[in-house]
Amino acid sequence: MERNSLAQDIINTCLEMNATGLNQGTSGNVSSRYRDGMLITPSGIPYVKLTPEMIVYVDGIGRSEPDKIPSSEWLFHLACYQARPELNAVIHTHAINSTALAILNQPIPAIHYMVAVTGTDHIPCIPYDTFGTKELAESVFIGIKESKSILMQHHGMLVMEINLEKALWLAGETETLAELYLKVSSLHSPPPVLSADEMQKVIAKFKNYGLKTEK
Ligand code: 13P
Ligand code: ZN
Repeated sequence: MERNSLAQDIINTCLEMNATGLNQGTSGNVSSRYRDGMLITPSGIPYVKLTPEMIVYVDGIGRSEPDKIPSSEWLFHLACYQARPELNAVIHTHAINSTALAILNQPIPAIHYMVAVTGTDHIPCIPYDTFGTKELAESVFIGIKESKSILMQHHGMLVMEINLEKALWLAGETETLAELYLKVSSLHSPPPVLSADEMQKVIAKFKNYGLKTEK
């Protein structure tokens, strides 16, 4: 895709993630694979103020354009593209329910068959590290290899998908599962979960689910 329209898609994704309550303020960041690296949101700028020219290109070895400051989390975005060559978009948000579970260092078990959209039978929670650090990027690398959706202890959530549209969808599904988990846990703790066998069946079914029209 041409740079300007991909940059505009990144901005639209940011605006939608805030409008739908998946994020708030200048928290979070969004990127899309581009050339040997990625296009990524700049650091700390309100999404409503973004223009395509402000989106930053970071190459495959972490060099960014002069006069632009990429998201403080560019290291973990780059780590994602290295970890999952088949996926092309990353969204990180501080969604309320996902972050509430992340504060408790609580992964989401197989409470609903939709957990299988992550490609595995649970949503892991990676250990806390200071934002923007190499250590956090290393944990993200390990977590995203395991699951397309991860919680980040005392921080938020991160998803990766084939494109921005599907990544935004997966962020919404993750937040819904987090909300469900919190709700049922207040009535029945720990809540009942689907068996490992059943989850394997659903994971296999999702591989052929829906029309495969997008890249
Ligand atoms: P940036 O504005 O630098 O992307 O930081 C937001 C954030 O969520 C850090 O984890
Ligand atoms: Zn963050």
